[in-house]
Amino acid sequence: MKKLKIRILTFLLSGFIVLVIILAYNTLRLKARQFPFDKEPPVKKSAVLAFSSNELAQKLSELIKIKTISSRSELSKDDKQAFVRFHRLLAEMFPQLHKTLETKVINQYSLLYTWKGSDPALKPLLLMAHLDVVPVEYEQGQKKIWRYPPFAGKIDKGFVWGRGALDDKSALLCMMAAVESLLGSGYQPRRSIILAIAHDEEVGGVQGAKKIVEELRKNGIQPQVILDEWSPVIAAGLLGIKNPVALIGVAEKGYMTLRLTATDQSGHSSKPKKETAIVQLARATTAIESNPLPVVYQAPTKQMLETLAPHAPMKLRMAIANIWLFRSPVMGVLAGKPESNALIRTTLVTTVVKAGIQENVIPYRASSLVNIRLLPGQSSESVIKHVKKIIANKRIKLETKGPVYEASTVSSMVSNNYLRIAKSIRQSFPKAVIAPSLMIGATDSRHYQVLNAPVYRFRPFKLKLTDTYGIHGVNEKISVSSLAQGARFYMQLIGNFDK
Ligand SMILES: [Zn+2]
Repeated sequence: MKKLKIRILTFLLSGFIVLVIILAYNTLRLKARQFPFDKEPPVKKSAVLAFSSNELAQKLSELIKIKTISSRSELSKDDKQAFVRFHRLLAEMFPQLHKTLETKVINQYSLLYTWKGSDPALKPLLLMAHLDVVPVEYEQGQKKIWRYPPFAGKIDKGFVWGRGALDDKSALLCMMAAVESLLGSGYQPRRSIILAIAHDEEVGGVQGAKKIVEELRKNGIQPQVILDEWSPVIAAGLLGIKNPVALIGVAEKGYMTLRLTATDQSGHSSKPKKETAIVQLARATTAIESNPLPVVYQAPTKQMLETLAPHAPMKLRMAIANIWLFRSPVMGVLAGKPESNALIRTTLVTTVVKAGIQENVIPYRASSLVNIRLLPGQSSESVIKHVKKIIANKRIKLETKGPVYEASTVSSMVSNNYLRIAKSIRQSFPKAVIAPSLMIGATDSRHYQVLNAPVYRFRPFKLKLTDTYGIHGVNEKISVSSLAQGARFYMQLIGNFDK
């Protein structure tokens, strides 16, 4: 008996040792995949940024002061004038650019600039930005929490404050400053550069980006690569990583809204029957909430974690390197936080519920809106099927509301296009850990899918994670020093795509 016990113990122990060796081997094998680009010289020594950080801050402040607010309703006369004033201000700020580049106004308020390259065989590099901003509920209760009025363009304590400071007037400014600087130094690109500046990104892009894309298609323009906005460089602390982290969005989730409508006989509330329209809808809403779609660990989130893990604390590195063993706890941790949960599954959330007209009337109808963000590879059709199955009530009508956008394709994470963007990031943010990632929100770039060009998403500014909360939130601000860095990024990018 004793012998058998010892044998079992020895067996377990040797098994444990083998497991430890496998875990350690895999952990060590998961090597950093960063690019040793830091030793390469910058694009062209003569091309220096023509603006100081303070000059860029001053310009951004002026751009913020113009209220180019996107609105779902018809633009008022004042709004329209703001957009036109904004165009005029850009022309004043960047005279060389406006003299040299072909400028087209698209659908009255969007802008399309083309800097003709010397080699017509090369496909153009297309840089996107938008000049509109979301509104602020300033007079409706936010006055106390904004440090400065959102459209005052205040520069203070090393920051430019206000709506659009991050999203997206700073990127627009830096793009233009880069082109103006390159023009000033006599640079002539081999590859054409297109700046596509839309005016209604914040309300869906149907009037702006969509029309820009129509114009590009009409002229047979097929970009080499498209760069849109997204994640800034997070200063430090993401997943416990000490270095800044630069995420390049290689894919974007899809977007769809479903309307659920339950109908039943209306009647007097003194003699209620069971299963009113409200109860049916409530059951459906609960079913959606408690039956989430399964977790999918796939590109690009898988590649993101594998790229970041070697720079993260040992625990995480080991878990990602041995995902065959730790899949369940890792997915559990990811699913536990809204931001990371959105990376590994298609999400559904009820955002609007409507029912009832008066307290003593049982309503005839109850309806809700469910907003859905689709993972790449998961079709809207399959999700509708899932919803139908889990609510299991034929009396509830299901229909889509508004346009359905399937998730984007996943752009290559190893192509020259990706590497050139990564290289430009490495040159501008030498310490950053660079990784591909999934964009969980929706941007104008979804309208560009029809061009069949790879789309990447990146915002060339280094921020603290907490500063990103200013995007669509309160106290939006950007540091003065990061503006020159952002403009240099675009200069590097143009140069890298010309090689
Ligand atoms: Zn934006």
